[in-house]
Amino acid sequence: MTGEPILRLRGVSKSYDGQAMAVRALDLDVARGEFLTLLGPSGSGKTTTLMMLAGFETPTEGSIELEGRRVDGLPPHRRGLGMVFQNYALFPHMSVAENIAFPLSVRRTPQAETARLVAEAVELVGLSGLADRRPGQLSGGQQQRVALARALVFRPPLVLLDEPLGALDRQLRERMQIELKRLHASLGVTMIYVTHDQEEAMAMSDRVAVFHEGRVQQVAPPIELYARPASLFVAGFVGESNRIEGVVSARNGDVIQVAVEGLPTLVALAADGAGQGARVAIAVRPERIRLGAEAETAENRVTARLSDVIFVGDRLRGHCLLPGGCELVFKRPNDGGALPGRGDTLELGWARDDARAWQIETGATE
Ligand code: ADP
Ligand code: MG
Repeated sequence: MTGEPILRLRGVSKSYDGQAMAVRALDLDVARGEFLTLLGPSGSGKTTTLMMLAGFETPTEGSIELEGRRVDGLPPHRRGLGMVFQNYALFPHMSVAENIAFPLSVRRTPQAETARLVAEAVELVGLSGLADRRPGQLSGGQQQRVALARALVFRPPLVLLDEPLGALDRQLRERMQIELKRLHASLGVTMIYVTHDQEEAMAMSDRVAVFHEGRVQQVAPPIELYARPASLFVAGFVGESNRIEGVVSARNGDVIQVAVEGLPTLVALAADGAGQGARVAIAVRPERIRLGAEAETAENRVTARLSDVIFVGDRLRGHCLLPGGCELVFKRPNDGGALPGRGDTLELGWARDDARAWQIETGATE
């Protein structure tokens, strides 16, 4: 990251009840102009983090600096951030224009300036012609645009968005993702975006912070997150991974041999210090599994029975049962070639470099 971060969190923790930790020891720097996503399953601490940034919750420990200034003691209105939440919380009795103008009236912006900024914001989010309507006369997507315009109209340096597209159907959500990215790029504003949807996080973000049980597991650009997950949790949560458990029988540098019940010895890259005797889980992406002739030269080879085939239009998902009882999923593009069918016996293979292993139990010591 170059330059001073716009936002700096150090050791931020939050407990609502003095016992359970909703957020644990969070260190995070956000670069000016960045699109950073907080990604994680429900209950992992994303909203709590955003609420502390916004000023609606106070950290139990730690500090939050915005543009070099401590803000963790300041109320929301003194932080000057834009905010968009899942339930738009528009004022139902006000028009679109009045809703968007609200943050300006709070700031006592002169009338002419307000009119100009509101017109610009309406245009920006594609609501031209709808400025006099009330929220109840708009679709869900249009209401969300109003909320977005209201968050942007006073030109905040930082905008916080908590699952803003969560209530929209898939097609509209994908269109709004593109529009939001376009807005982000054209305005140069910093955005912190919360979602539990890993595809959305991958599609939109400069970097993604992956949350699990209140802790950030990894902060990285999408491509890096996908290629080099820092933990088994990230490997399984970001994209899809097969999980094969076994015991390390030998280690040479980062390369480990893994004994798995019912299978020939597998070869994988150790992501941690797993030594001989350690129980590990190997993660392999479904799209990295080769079939038939392509599998012949792979370092890891297994024979499996295809127990289910799911056709997803542009691709096919195969569920295989391995000797020993482990299930393996592969993906094939629907590229016009012959596709395997249920009950087929398949040769599957994958490269050592496509198999990363994490220790799940330490080895027995004698
Ligand atoms: P996420 O947004 O990732 O779903 P949250 O930040 O909402 O997660 O929640 C993190 C944890 O804090 C959860 O265990 C949740 O039950 C708890 N929590 C959230 N808000 C409150 C609250 N206002 N009071 C008590 N516990 C809360
Ligand atoms: Mg939440």
